[in-house]
Amino acid sequence: MEKELCQICHHRIAEHRFVRIVGGVETSYRICSHCKALMDNKYKELQAEAARKAVPPERRVCPTCGSTLQSFSATGLLGCEECYHVFDDYLIEYIRGYHGAVTHVGMNAKAVPTDIETLYRELADLVKKEEFEKASLLKKKIKRLQGGVDD
Ligand SMILES: [Zn+2]
Ligand SMILES: [Zn+2]
Repeated sequence: MEKELCQICHHRIAEHRFVRIVGGVETSYRICSHCKALMDNKYKELQAEAARKAVPPERRVCPTCGSTLQSFSATGLLGCEECYHVFDDYLIEYIRGYHGAVTHVGMNAKAVPTDIETLYRELADLVKKEEFEKASLLKKKIKRLQGGVDD
């Protein structure tokens, strides 16, 4: 059999067949081991992600620290870094919703600094980029700015 080049990287020798089904149409690729490993990983990630998103946030439990949405709602704190992954879609909504409320209150209470909006956007950004340490610091800062008690 003639040596074929990988159809993804066009660089290494293809040793595997990779089948993708999109909209009922089967397409097969000849790919190398390197690209196959990448595809397998990506696929596993997507599967895990889909499985997680299939469960509503209020029924999820962090596999690392056992945090739930209930414990998060009660304390406003997440137990560990993994929590950011487990509840990420909820957190984005939470931050957005919170942000709306802050803006609304801000109209009547001049004590709310104008840049808090920017900070919330930054926070959502940091969570997205998985900069958890910075996100946690920023969250504390926002809490202080809002006059909340720091713990
Ligand atoms: Zn390849
Ligand atoms: Zn956790």
